[in-house]
Amino acid sequence: MSAPDTDVEPGTVYLVGSGPGDPELLTVRAIRLLEAADIVLHDKLPGPEIIESLPEDRREDVGKRAGGERTPQSEINERLVELARAGKSVVRLKGGDPFVFGRGGEEAEYLAAHEVPFEVVPAITAAIAAPAVAGIPVTHRDHASSVSFVTGHEDPTKPESAVDWEALAATGGTIVVLMGVGRLPDYTAALREAGMAPDTPVALVERGTRPGQRVATGTIETIVDVRDEADISPPAVTVIGDVAGTRESVADFLRNDYGAAADAESEAAADSEGED
Ligand code: SAH
Repeated sequence: MSAPDTDVEPGTVYLVGSGPGDPELLTVRAIRLLEAADIVLHDKLPGPEIIESLPEDRREDVGKRAGGERTPQSEINERLVELARAGKSVVRLKGGDPFVFGRGGEEAEYLAAHEVPFEVVPAITAAIAAPAVAGIPVTHRDHASSVSFVTGHEDPTKPESAVDWEALAATGGTIVVLMGVGRLPDYTAALREAGMAPDTPVALVERGTRPGQRVATGTIETIVDVRDEADISPPAVTVIGDVAGTRESVADFLRNDYGAAADAESEAAADSEGED
């Protein structure tokens, strides 16, 4: 499919999702806009496979400032408005879907408040795609008739925590936690306290759809040790619920080949953890 560059408007911001990382999973609209826009503002989450395919003079990393600290959201917002007002067509490229835990909503509000026209280009969220390529359907007629996407970034013991883990445990549906590697011990404990069965299956999918993807599996009781043993690090999603246990029955024939070798290793680590 060719990319007519007539469909980008000067002075417009495109809030574009990159999908979970595999460039093959970009939308056609995203590819067209990436080719045609004057400038692409991105952070690290879309992954090097997508970012490094863009010419250096048309991309700007707004993820981190010199010294390694995170760029404040206000600075990114201001930069978007500044470029649009200078008449540029601007792609703001975000990992996964721009409106799923991506602060895309805040950027849209800021643009509207500053009378900058924008278009949202939805994408495949890692919340669904990372489990999927690991062989885990987030819903399943026999196992889960609902799914919740939650942030694992907050301290569940704080009263102001916006995530009601007790209510989530009561749904019996699948829980997919984003930004939840670091606080895994906290929210798994909160779910256990809320009465979740100790043998509830849990899977961690690290770098889903990217080279070196790894999957580590356990239960709500063992998963913290599994994480430590396999040294799982962000970006990763945590899938909690019976669907996480269905992976085994399809794994032998699953041909989403992103990181089979590493995957086997992390499962070996998880297995030996379980036998100890
Ligand atoms: N807008 C994004 C989410 C941004 S929040 C989306 O829709 O996917 C960042 C979190 O997304 C990470 O901490 C991780 O939990 C998850 N994530 C993003 N890309 C991922 C990937 N390739 N594999 C696993 N998790 C990923």
